[in-house]
Amino acid sequence: MNVKILFDKESKNKKLRVGWGVSFLINETVLFDTGEDGAWLLDNIRLLDVDISKIKTVVISHEHWDHIGGLWELLGEKKGIKVYICPGFSDEFKAKVKKSGGAPVEAKTLTEVDKDIFVTGEIEGKYKGCYMPEQALILKTARGISVITGCAHPGIIKMIKKAKSLFPQEDIYSALGGFHLLDENGETIKNIAGEFRKLGVKKAGPTHCSGEETKRIFREEYGKDFIDIDVGGSKSCF
Ligand SMILES: [Zn+2]
Ligand SMILES: [Zn+2]
Repeated sequence: MNVKILFDKESKNKKLRVGWGVSFLINETVLFDTGEDGAWLLDNIRLLDVDISKIKTVVISHEHWDHIGGLWELLGEKKGIKVYICPGFSDEFKAKVKKSGGAPVEAKTLTEVDKDIFVTGEIEGKYKGCYMPEQALILKTARGISVITGCAHPGIIKMIKKAKSLFPQEDIYSALGGFHLLDENGETIKNIAGEFRKLGVKKAGPTHCSGEETKRIFREEYGKDFIDIDVGGSKSCF
């Protein structure tokens, strides 16, 4: 399994666009989230020599601007492509996907979107007091499962536990993405890093809304098993 970082907030390559939100490309075929801006996403796709014709499926973690922002321009290039969403996403969003040329697929429960690549199905979450459904991506590899999150509004531990419950026989090889710990204090973050260890998560890659303090604490906790997420980077270790 290969995870290519198409959009996020940092890059070693100054030519690439960076900003708020994430977009990860799995095995060249499954795009998880689309970042905040379509033109920027398409710029990075071009600059990274990604073959857009190979992208078969889009998965949207949740309906926030920094995860759906690039979807509309992408759909302009990929008419008819499947877009995996949660049933709880808004009717407006579903209608806009259709109008923009996408084929929305509502995943209520665990669904395989490509070989060994799954969505968890809808997980209940809240954002600023409102219901915010979210799904994570699960990659099934020889070393266990890898869990990829957009913002983890339902709670990163809850989402990892959900993934584990869907694959009870598997170890959790890695967890990466937005952990939404931006406003949490050091003690809470340390407890969460401890929970990761208890759950047996072998590698961790907090980025996006995880916050700098979270990155610092996880880097300390995980050492060589910390996954650095940078735009243009390719993580083939899963
Ligand atoms: Zn976000
Ligand atoms: Zn969000």
